[in-house]
Order: sequence, then structure tokens, then C-alpha cells
Amino acid sequence: MIEDKRFYTFVFAPTAKSQLRKLNVPHNVIYAILGFAIVGLLTVSYGAYRLAQHAVLVARLNLIQDENRQLKERNQEAESKYDLLQTRLAALDTTQRKLAVNSGVSRPDEVSRIGQGGPEGETTVSDIERATAALESELRQMKDVFDKNQIRLSSTPNGWPVRGYITDGFGMRGNPFGGGGSEVHAGLDIATNHGTAIESTADGIVIFAGPHGGYGNVVVVDHGYGLTTRYAHMSGIDVKVGDHVARGKKIGAVGSTGRSTAPHCHYEVRLHDRPVNPLNYVSVGRS
Ligand SMILES: [Zn+2]
Repeated sequence: MIEDKRFYTFVFAPTAKSQLRKLNVPHNVIYAILGFAIVGLLTVSYGAYRLAQHAVLVARLNLIQDENRQLKERNQEAESKYDLLQTRLAALDTTQRKLAVNSGVSRPDEVSRIGQGGPEGETTVSDIERATAALESELRQMKDVFDKNQIRLSSTPNGWPVRGYITDGFGMRGNPFGGGGSEVHAGLDIATNHGTAIESTADGIVIFAGPHGGYGNVVVVDHGYGLTTRYAHMSGIDVKVGDHVARGKKIGAVGSTGRSTAPHCHYEVRLHDRPVNPLNYVSVGRS
């Protein structure tokens, strides 16, 4: 290798008034200095690049931590909402339990577990879904029972067919037409003005409407469950056989047709066609 003997000559003045000075620097030294400078520059650049990279990572980490914190908060919020829902379901469950006892509906197993929480004591969405579904199915069963009871209630004679004075009760009585002897009076006699509206005392279907011996003009309503009512001595009839009548529907007017001495409504309630005391049916289900 040939040694480089060349120099770079630098001319400079230390101050404005001083003489010029010369400095001879060998090429080798210049190249060495340049080499160090380049290596130094590269090192610094790489360092700066790594620092920037680090800053980006730190920023991302902060972002993720923020998100994580928000998610945790939302999670806690959801959990407390589940707990609240569970509490409300348990309250509903208590109410429904009482209704179930009253309506005679046997409770599904799932329902009785409401409010006990999961094995870890935490409420989950599926716990709530299960509890809600169980309550819903029980409610449907209870609705069926209530509907049937409702039909039964509206089909049971209740109240008075007409307002007036009870001139004769149910049971044995003397012959009202004289001549001695006694007879069984199969209903109530309610006296009031001729023409007063007579109303059906329950929902039902008219199975007879017309004159019938001593009853005079009579309407017989079948209410199901073995119950019928009859309203006799009418001056006029407003319904015909096959008509559906609701409780309170006008079916005719007070008169004195048939075996009667003055305007009144002879009202009978029959269970399996045997006359029973209508007084037992004038306030069914009323307090
Ligand atoms: Zn009578």
C-alpha cells in the first residue's frame, strides 16, 4: 500500500489584524475525521429513529390502556344493571308466586330459581333470559286459568234481574191462589211496575223464549256449568232461542202473564235443572 504523503493546507487568520497562518493537515487525518463524523451521524440518526419508534409505541399503549379502562367501566356498569334487573325479576317473581298460589298454577322449576344467582353469584345475560322466559311461560298458564275463571264468573248468575220487592221467597209456601195446601216455590217473586226491564243475570244462551203454562211468557237462559235461569210472567220478550246474552242484557219486561195475580218477575236459578235458592246467587263474588 502506497502511503499518501499529500496535505490539505488551511489558511486562516485568528483575528482581523493578525498575520495569516497556514496549517497543513495530512489527507489521512481528514479522511479519518470525515469517517468518524459519518459514523457519528449514522449513530445519532439511528438513535433518533428508535426514540421516535418508542414514542409511537408508548402513545399506542396509552390509547389501549384508555380503551381498556373504558371497557372495564362499561363492564361494571353492565354488571350492576344485570344485578338491578335480577332484583326486579325477583320482585316480579314474588308477585307472580302469590298469583300462582291463588290461581292454582304449579310453578315451573326454572321460576323458583330466580333471584338465587349463578354459581359464582354473578348475574349474566343468560340468567336473565332464562328467568324472563320462565316467568313468561308461567304468566301464559295463569292467563289461561284467569280467562277460564273469568268466563265462569261471567257465566254465574249474579245480581238481580229486576229491582223491586221480594213478595215471595224460595221454598215451601201456602197456595197463593187460596184453596189451602202448600207448594214448593221454585224461585223468587220480585214485584215492580208492569213493563220494567228484566235483565239476564249472567252471560249465556237463550234456550227457551215464549209462553209456557203457569210461567206465562218465560225466558230460559243456559249459562253452562249446569246453570240455567228463568224469568217468568213477562209482558213482552226481547230475545229468541239461540241468542247469546251478556249479563245485564234486557231480555223482556215485567208482566203478569200465566199463573200470576199482579205484575212481578218470577226468577229461578237451576243447577242441573234442580231449582236452587236464587238468593245464593244475587251477590256471588261481591264483597
Ligand atoms: Zn213465583
